[in-house]
Amino acid sequence: MATKNIKQKNIDILKDAGLKVTHSRCKILEIFQSSPDEHYTADKLKDCLDDEGEKIGLATIYRVLTQLEMADLIQKNNFNENQSAYEIKKSHHDHLICTKCGDIIEFTNNDLEKLQETISNNYDFTLESHVMTLFGRCNKSNCKGKSEK
Ligand SMILES: [Zn+2]
Ligand SMILES: [Zn+2]
Repeated sequence: MATKNIKQKNIDILKDAGLKVTHSRCKILEIFQSSPDEHYTADKLKDCLDDEGEKIGLATIYRVLTQLEMADLIQKNNFNENQSAYEIKKSHHDHLICTKCGDIIEFTNNDLEKLQETISNNYDFTLESHVMTLFGRCNKSNCKGKSEK
């Protein structure tokens, strides 16, 4: 059997999530799937859609993001107070963020995960979830912060 193309797959995904299949929902979901490592703010998503010649307004983008998040298809990250960054839903991971260039590195560390369980247990606390975001500098040669004074 031929593998279903992305478009058809996304229609199924949206339907399964109980969402009506609309062009903007499909398009936005497609962008997330085509770059699973990316973290998109609404503005960044708008730029991508513009590049593809898609005329989808910011208000619609925000609405679709909320819907996709409620349907558990994407994950919302509040890395800073200005704008949320969204990514396609995948297995649990934490983030390192460069405060100079904004680069986001994903990581998992079993010791860290276990330690959080231990701490919670020590306080007779039932851990449900956690957010671990480390801020710093990426030290990459192409970091935009490098040339700044
Ligand atoms: Zn974690
Ligand atoms: Zn991530």
